[in-house]
Amino acid sequence: MTAYDFGPQHPLKPVRLERTVELLGACVGGFEAIDPGTGSVKDALRVHSLEYVETVRTLSDDASVMCREEMWPWGFGTSDNPVFEGMFEASLSYVSGTVRAAEEVRDGATLAFGIAGGLHHAQRSRASGFCVFNDPAIACAVLRERFDRVAYIDIDLHHGDGVQALFFDDPTVMTCSIHETGKRLYPGTGFVEERGAGDSAVNLPLEPFTTGDVWLWTFENGIMPRLRAFQPQAIVLQMGTDPHFLDPLGHFQVAAQEWLEAVKLVQSLGLPIVALGGGGYELSCVPRMWASAVMTLSGVEYDDAIPLSVPREWGMTTFADQDLPLPRNYGRRDAELVVASLTL
Ligand SMILES: [Zn+2]
Repeated sequence: MTAYDFGPQHPLKPVRLERTVELLGACVGGFEAIDPGTGSVKDALRVHSLEYVETVRTLSDDASVMCREEMWPWGFGTSDNPVFEGMFEASLSYVSGTVRAAEEVRDGATLAFGIAGGLHHAQRSRASGFCVFNDPAIACAVLRERFDRVAYIDIDLHHGDGVQALFFDDPTVMTCSIHETGKRLYPGTGFVEERGAGDSAVNLPLEPFTTGDVWLWTFENGIMPRLRAFQPQAIVLQMGTDPHFLDPLGHFQVAAQEWLEAVKLVQSLGLPIVALGGGGYELSCVPRMWASAVMTLSGVEYDDAIPLSVPREWGMTTFADQDLPLPRNYGRRDAELVVASLTL
């Protein structure tokens, strides 16, 4: 998984995963990350075309077989998705972690994590937004083998466009996403009007600089009622940490503890959960937010202080943020309009 690396200039850094695992190891006695194995093409083909999967394999082995212009229709050869050697195997290993987690829940577990996963932008035949294979969509497909109705919940800063597109015509998978508005941010989609078959797509686009109190209010009043009405039997939760106010890619003003409250709301549904990672590019935030989500969902109590065995140069002293971004309640009026328009 740590070989999934677009290079030193790219914001998606494998060290995010290493530090999360190390932090969890420092907090939870007996914590162990399970090696899910190398991953299978068969799983990738649950949501991707054979042509695309084979193209990923070809480019991974030898990028010189195509010029940049030939790569573009497949989503590669861009600054977001440069090709790297071993990309195929690394991408499949992400799939593997998520599939292993989804299979655990399909087979009866109430909770499983695939913290490397959450690559929600990949499309059926195109890489996008740092995402090669759409593991959250694959998780939904795995869960559908047992459950009649599956909900996908996406709290990443960005719209979960790939998952939405892959299930847009399928009323048995509800996709819910709260994100910075596509008018201002990649991928430029995720508007309220995108509703899917049987209203199974729920989108809550918010304005830049929306504060965490408003973000959480919107999640609670926009997504939760729709989820309860849909009555899902299992959940795939994408836990991108990039809504955080320190994240360099977006403009939300969400604190770690406000973000965690959304995770708790999902937990309060009392349903089986496959919890995945996602975006998040500020290294002093990602590990502590994912570790706090893993421990909270698992019912592990923990001190707010980060254990002293964790290197101080990682920039983390407490799980919660000490100072909330000010002023509070920013973006409330726009958020109310979004929630109201959902019900129209
Ligand atoms: Zn994101």
